[in-house]
Amino acid sequence: MAYKCNLSNGQQVYIENQGMQTVVTVYSGSPGQQQQASTGFQTGKWTVVPTLFKTASGVILRIESEQGQSFVQLQAGGISTINGTPTLSDAEVLSLQKVEATPSTSMPPMEPMKPMEPMKMGDMEMKMNPMQMRMGNMSMEMGSSSPATSGKRFCPQCGAPVQTGDRFCSSCGYQL
Ligand SMILES: [Zn+2]
Repeated sequence: MAYKCNLSNGQQVYIENQGMQTVVTVYSGSPGQQQQASTGFQTGKWTVVPTLFKTASGVILRIESEQGQSFVQLQAGGISTINGTPTLSDAEVLSLQKVEATPSTSMPPMEPMKPMEPMKMGDMEMKMNPMQMRMGNMSMEMGSSSPATSGKRFCPQCGAPVQTGDRFCSSCGYQL
């Protein structure tokens, strides 16, 4: 249950009873540059629809609940409760429109996550599925069907790659 009022200065006031709390939200500014000030007060559950008054000193909201009457003043500087009963005899009653809820200006719903792209940082590269990692000239692979060590031999003397059938290293002549 929420109520809305358009104030003459372009502000919009939303009043909502959330449990034992009354939440007053004031929206000001033009669309796209909206400012929102929201304050909650422990007023109790409303027994009647709140009344908004326009007085010489500003807009005053009267809330009537199981806990009695409470008054909230809406000013440019913020929303605050009033101690005692303000004089409302010459105040103008502003009409409230019933709305479903206070509109939220919070973040729009999250977009679904994009599929993971290969990460790249400097000379480090990482890919998923199969997992692959490369850093400079070092590379690592996981889950790949061809182990990197098979079919390739290296000379134990100089480290040059040699063919499986070779008897001597083609680079240094070491007997394999
Ligand atoms: Zn060699």
